[in-house]
Amino acid sequence: MLFDLHTHTTASDGTLRPRELVKLAGKHGLKGLAITDHDTVDGIPEGLVAGRDYQVEVLPGVELSTSFGGHEVHILGYLIDWKADGLREALATMTEQRLNRAEKILSRLSRLGLPLDFGEVQRIAGDGVIGRPHLAAAMVKRGYVQDVREAFSRFLGKGAPAYVAREKLTLEEAIRLLTDAGGVPVLAHPGLIGDARLIVSIIERGIKGIEVYYPEHTPDQRQYYLRLCQSYRLIATGGSDYHGAVRNVKLGYCAVDFQTVKQLRDKQEEYYA
Ligand SMILES: [Zn+2]
Ligand SMILES: [Zn+2]
Repeated sequence: MLFDLHTHTTASDGTLRPRELVKLAGKHGLKGLAITDHDTVDGIPEGLVAGRDYQVEVLPGVELSTSFGGHEVHILGYLIDWKADGLREALATMTEQRLNRAEKILSRLSRLGLPLDFGEVQRIAGDGVIGRPHLAAAMVKRGYVQDVREAFSRFLGKGAPAYVAREKLTLEEAIRLLTDAGGVPVLAHPGLIGDARLIVSIIERGIKGIEVYYPEHTPDQRQYYLRLCQSYRLIATGGSDYHGAVRNVKLGYCAVDFQTVKQLRDKQEEYYA
């Protein structure tokens, strides 16, 4: 009866289509999963249909990138009304910003003598919005770099010559957007935030849960986040952050039981009753 509450599809930077992802979840014996693509809900309709076909419970979600205290902070939104106008408009603006950013990066790369074809990068991104991982993959394909890691460290990463900063939502904007769409905002993988001291301030901004169970969290971090959940009466969630075979993490790793999903639903009702 396990649920993987953190997964990505081809609608963002995952490698499986929503339908393939849901099918795989069924094969792994998962009861359900939340589709939480980066800054898009485009994978949800296909996922919901597949969920009925494979008898896997699909929870609509999203993962928003925000900026807080100079750090990148990801916020998961669970049980959102993915058709809500406000949310869709905000996501459309973000897609546009991502495209603008990709174009800027392409022109920088070209000035560095590493031209890439926009169409080629778009083919790599498939249905998803072009992001740095796709640009990196295109650079590998052209033989500009050995691997994605090198593409980031030499060209695309923060401080590198082709780096372009992205406009991000503030943490407060993201929380408001998710709550307005009837969702429950949860702090994703706090262990990946550069500064652990920020976590309490993030909690105080109004999140309702913490992703305690996460592949890269150490046992000590897990203990600490669990204690925070108890002190602040937050829901402890978990998930694999599955992106497909590109990462060495199996779908269903760090999955949680039905009780957690029930807590999310109760929290949602408490707010929107
Ligand atoms: Zn994330
Ligand atoms: Zn993620």
